[in-house]
Amino acid sequence: MSRHQYDLIQCMKQPGKSIGLVCSACEGRCPLCDSYVKPTTKVRICHECSMGHLNNKCILCANYLGDDKELGTPAYYCLECVRLEKDREGCPRIVNVGSLKSDMMIRKKKEQASTPALLK
Ligand SMILES: [Zn+2]
Ligand SMILES: [Zn+2]
Ligand SMILES: [Zn+2]
Repeated sequence: MSRHQYDLIQCMKQPGKSIGLVCSACEGRCPLCDSYVKPTTKVRICHECSMGHLNNKCILCANYLGDDKELGTPAYYCLECVRLEKDREGCPRIVNVGSLKSDMMIRKKKEQASTPALLK
């Protein structure tokens, strides 16, 4: 199973204190090279990715992790990436432009729905 990452964009901002969480499907997978071998260092994500509508979604596939992130597990970099110091390059969250856009559409719809409809 190989899934190449050239079509995915990573955030790469300066990581903060927040631990990156993944869903059960992505558990144990290195966010940089997709390896399941020797998870070594906990993933830290940037401030922006730990806030707002992104904070309760899997950092790799954007699966919903529940309101309290109860379905999330900490993500780990594999030994190889830690050895190459790739874990210091920045926030590894996959920024999926498509899903970000649809999130914004949902928000707009909610705002419009609060307009009063009765005019009698
Ligand atoms: Zn790796
Ligand atoms: Zn980020
Ligand atoms: Zn996932």
